[in-house]
Amino acid sequence: MTAVAFLGLGAIGTPMARHLATPEYSLRVWNRTAAKAADFAATHGVTHAESPADAANGARFIITCLPTSADVEALLDGPTGLEAGLQEGATLIDCTSGDPTTSRRIAARLASHGVGFLDAPVSGGVAGAEIGSLTVMVGGDAALLERAAAIFGTFGETVVHCGPVGTGHALKAVNQAMLAVHIWSLAEGLTALARAGVDPKIALEVINASSGRSNSSQNLFPQRVLTRAFPRTFRLALLDKDVGIAARVQREQKVPSPMIQLAAELMSMAHRELGDEADHVEAVKVVERMAGEVID
Ligand code: NDP
Repeated sequence: MTAVAFLGLGAIGTPMARHLATPEYSLRVWNRTAAKAADFAATHGVTHAESPADAANGARFIITCLPTSADVEALLDGPTGLEAGLQEGATLIDCTSGDPTTSRRIAARLASHGVGFLDAPVSGGVAGAEIGSLTVMVGGDAALLERAAAIFGTFGETVVHCGPVGTGHALKAVNQAMLAVHIWSLAEGLTALARAGVDPKIALEVINASSGRSNSSQNLFPQRVLTRAFPRTFRLALLDKDVGIAARVQREQKVPSPMIQLAAELMSMAHRELGDEADHVEAVKVVERMAGEVID
């Protein structure tokens, strides 16, 4: 049995951790709100760790899935922090959609104790996590990725080595910027088309058989906007954070990126308007409000 720790039982962390609650792994879980980890441990017959250090103690692989890299870095600190429990030869796999700069700092800090680090953000949403079909973008040493391949295979279908530490996070952030642009621009287009007399259902049918199609037009809008269901699976606050990271990556690389910078501003405005608990697709409601038109 491989000893694994999972820290961060949020919307996506919980279904990811479930895939590790099998006889092949000895799983210890930790969550900031302890009751969630206690429930998970009781339901799946795994161990509830008292602290991050307790979770890491004896684990070969330690997986984190928190909102930001800053949260992961802070988790390392103190006598009950992650760093206190990590053992030489262990690997920290950070599935947070984080930022490359903080990840490089974490990797350097852990390397001084002989602990490996991989940034391994995921894509595919809660539904993908539930069926184990996530895309995993991995930054770090290829040999470490090879050693962790079985772990990634439990929740990932497509696991790609992107380059050195931080490149997984950079790629994920750029992907998220595309998602934001697609949601926002499709909402703008559909509101104008609705006012021009085109039923949004017809507009989507045509776009989905044409070159403007995207995951937003094929899945998100038909399932969540036209139905007005807006389920809460991925918080707008997190997309705002992601597109902010993408905008920073573009600036650091000195690539002029007016589209991505604007997407970051729009996501931040929508987040301010709709609050911390809104789903990312609810950004559409801000466009609708500005247009005075509803997409239904
Ligand atoms: P949630 O907000 O649902 O959960 C966040 C988790 O992190 C909770 O377990 C929370 O604990 C914990 N947490 C929050 N702040 C801290 C902190 N300061 N210290 C320790 N633990 C903390 O987020 P998601 O699960 O949706 O997202 C997690 C990561 O995965 C994010 O980086 C997100 O961008 C990324 N992601 C999410 C996807 C999705 O569809 N949801 C898809 C792809 C990537 P508590 O229970 O105490 O609040």
